[in-house]
Amino acid sequence: MSDTKILCFSVGELATNCYLIGDPNTHEAVIIDPGGTSAELMAACDQWNIQQILLTHGHADHIAGISAVRQQDTSILLAKADQQFYENPRQIMGTDLSLPPVDGELNEGDDIEVGALKLKVHATPGHSPGSVIFANSQIAFTGDTLFRGSVGRYDLPGGSEEALMASLDKILTVLSDETTLYPGHGPQSTLKEEKNTNPFLIMRQQFGSSSQR
Ligand SMILES: [Zn+2]
Repeated sequence: MSDTKILCFSVGELATNCYLIGDPNTHEAVIIDPGGTSAELMAACDQWNIQQILLTHGHADHIAGISAVRQQDTSILLAKADQQFYENPRQIMGTDLSLPPVDGELNEGDDIEVGALKLKVHATPGHSPGSVIFANSQIAFTGDTLFRGSVGRYDLPGGSEEALMASLDKILTVLSDETTLYPGHGPQSTLKEEKNTNPFLIMRQQFGSSSQR
């Protein structure tokens, strides 16, 4: 973990955070949410063997750069419930994209390995039905489920406020205070900071458990 490189590139019209996570000892890397490209991202890709493209969800602003960053042996992974958006990106963003097919599904509890780094897949529906986060005790890539100070929209097709609130409860259980959060848009944070300042997480801590009874 200590050697692992985490690079963030702001890409596309909606300034999506595209992350490259690499193990410098093996030159193995994964890319999360290539929602567009940039000269910096393309230059970085040249330095690494991109093994997987991991998608937190299937919205066009998280997938539009896939063809550019994909290498010969890169597999594209996305939860099944969001493949509808991948296959028909116009549904959400009004753009046509020509993308290679998805190679595999992401499911709850799947293990992701990048050299020595391990991440687990946690299903966090709400922003979209197939939203996931990738996390271990130290770092979490939260997509459009959890931002610094806010959460993702739940009014888009397939979105659900109820599901998103349950996913926030799950995040509060699964991650630890010290976990660094790398969201799909905007600056990074920690779970502790969000528990203290994010109105949605404050609400879930105060009322979440009682409203479920
Ligand atoms: Zn989205």
